[in-house]
Amino acid sequence: MRIIHVSDTHGENEAMMRVDNLAMYRADCSVVAVTGDVITGAKETLTAKWNRWPQAHRFLVRGNHDRPASVFGDLRGWTTDAPKVDLVEDLAFVNLPWGVKASDLVGLSVAGATAVVIMVHFIQQLMDALTWEKVAELVGERPLLVLHGHDHKDAPKWEANGEAGGKSFYRSHICSCGHKTHKLRGTSHIIDWGDGKPSCTFVQGNEGIVPGFITLLHY
Ligand SMILES: [Zn+2]
Ligand SMILES: [Zn+2]
Repeated sequence: MRIIHVSDTHGENEAMMRVDNLAMYRADCSVVAVTGDVITGAKETLTAKWNRWPQAHRFLVRGNHDRPASVFGDLRGWTTDAPKVDLVEDLAFVNLPWGVKASDLVGLSVAGATAVVIMVHFIQQLMDALTWEKVAELVGERPLLVLHGHDHKDAPKWEANGEAGGKSFYRSHICSCGHKTHKLRGTSHIIDWGDGKPSCTFVQGNEGIVPGFITLLHY
């Protein structure tokens, strides 16, 4: 299974264009996950282009800048509810809300999944001791991948050996806008999940109207 991870486009025209070129080109990816801060206060609507993206499963979680919630009103065929679990093949995709707390995880189930992918805007909110305890309880012995954005200075980052409270995890951190991110707008991670674990490629969507992407780095 292949996943495109996009985050923090912040409504920038160039970033939006480049991630659109990437998503339209990568029809071989069955999942696209957007981890928040899609817009900013100045831009209150999302491009309808995102409804044409060819990925069968499209997940989006809200960031602190995604206000009001109606900015996602034009999206069709996207999962924007949180907290929510969706099973895609044998991976459980977990949408978590901005300001996630331990009680948001109560009642969620990843039964039937061999691995778990958590989508959250700000990973620190997950790292609160009580909340992380619930995450570890939910995930159990399964491999865990956390997709997030928010901290522009620290992105991009792929971590294969994260650890907290005795639970190890993979971590994909991306910011697709040009703010404090080496001015590389439209960057994303393509995550390949094979042989029971994920691997990651750092890419940038093409500019202009040319569908495609540039491979920047294999982690
Ligand atoms: Zn942001
Ligand atoms: Zn943010």
